[in-house]
Amino acid sequence: MTGNTDAERLWTQACSLIEEQVSEKDFQTWILELGARSFDGETLTLEAPFGLFRDRVKQSFLPVIENAVAASARKRCAVVVIVGQFVTASGANRLRSSRPATAIKGPVAKPKPLREKTFDTFVVGEGNRLAYLGARQLAEQGAGEGGNPLFLYGGVGLGKTHLLLAVGQALRAAGKRVLYYQGEDFTRRMVEALQGGRMESFHREFRSADALLIDDVQFLAGKRRTQQELYHVFNLLHDAGKPIALASDRAPEELENLERGLQSRFAGGLLADLGPLDRELRLRILKGKLSEAGIHLDDHILERLAVQLQGSVREIEGLVSRLRAASSHQSMPLDDGVVETMITPYLARRGPIDLDVVIDTVAWVHGLTRDELLSRDRSRRVAWPRHIAAYMCRKLTAASLPEIGHALGGRNHTSILRAVRSVAERQTSDAAFSGRLQQMEKMLGTSPGLRGRAAMAAAPPPGQ
Ligand code: ADP
Ligand code: MG
Repeated sequence: MTGNTDAERLWTQACSLIEEQVSEKDFQTWILELGARSFDGETLTLEAPFGLFRDRVKQSFLPVIENAVAASARKRCAVVVIVGQFVTASGANRLRSSRPATAIKGPVAKPKPLREKTFDTFVVGEGNRLAYLGARQLAEQGAGEGGNPLFLYGGVGLGKTHLLLAVGQALRAAGKRVLYYQGEDFTRRMVEALQGGRMESFHREFRSADALLIDDVQFLAGKRRTQQELYHVFNLLHDAGKPIALASDRAPEELENLERGLQSRFAGGLLADLGPLDRELRLRILKGKLSEAGIHLDDHILERLAVQLQGSVREIEGLVSRLRAASSHQSMPLDDGVVETMITPYLARRGPIDLDVVIDTVAWVHGLTRDELLSRDRSRRVAWPRHIAAYMCRKLTAASLPEIGHALGGRNHTSILRAVRSVAERQTSDAAFSGRLQQMEKMLGTSPGLRGRAAMAAAPPPGQ
């Protein structure tokens, strides 16, 4: 078994071949975001940041990747793409810094790759200070001070995952073996081990870890066997005084269908919630992300945005990546007019989410341009994402069917209704697909019950 360096070396070589074969945009968006996790001489395992991303990579780039890997390894190898960030027990992927060297070559004008999720890149303010301090303490002093486990909770896009990853980075830098799991991946891993009669090695992985990070533990609700196993490995590490951090969208006592043992274990260390961002913090985060992306906006625009961007940090990032995308197209220099157009949906938005934002996000997730998504193209590659966009617009905005049809390239309301139904149908019958839709909603920074049709009536009055 070889570790991660072989994987990285192989992947770096493969990347330079892939770079020749895909567009620069695809390369930046899809290939550079993959990390090399392991290579055992037969199989190269790559990591994608989230499920939709993995699916898209598999769907569109797997043959190119396989060929490049074969050429670099001088033999045919299997390529597996999984979700996760430094999940490995053996050495562990270096997350963003595992990005192949190709990422930093090229002209300066290129948009910079996204920054690492570390303590340094985390902006601290009123709402997230306790969580930040708890995370730092856990990372620096280990499990010593009663802050173990650290349980982070709060709404979508407020920095929980960022802090978990920062803890992971710091501990790894100190030579620790860190296990990071998303709740769903933990379940999947456990079920696979169970079915394959490999529980022994499943446990061994945890026994040999120095720290455990579990993200999105709300996904474990109702899964009894998974919880029993988590309880087991939790105790294993906790009793050995090893740091544990968890993140959830709710406080432990609000997690229904969670075994009481786990609940009290989770609540037994430091509980830190991440509150909504205040205006000052929004402004600082916005400024930071813009300067990272090399984008300059006038102060008065910044001020307006800071007032209006009430959602999550993800929303701020959504705006910045729109601007970034615009500024990377030479045909579209970032003059004031362009900036105004880009920020209008964010400025105009009150409560319900904007149709254009939904459409752009769905297009982005599927690797399509907005124009493609709105085109007459009826191939499945484009038509299905368009159906998904219709469904998302219906679900997350207050727009009527004709309005959605209009926004989606001038389609009539019956075809929108059909699209919405077909996605809804698949959503009820296909759990994996349903999960991907949820992830997309998360990317849109929505939290259940706050946005969309139901929120219309309850929308806050203008002005904050
Ligand atoms: P959560 O896990 O709470 O849903 P994430 O940690 O994924 O949220 O945060 C969403 C995005 O916002 C990430 O890209 C993250 O790096 C960024 N982010 C969140 N909070 C901050 C912050 N305080 N400073 C800088 N970036 C942040
Ligand atoms: Mg998260």
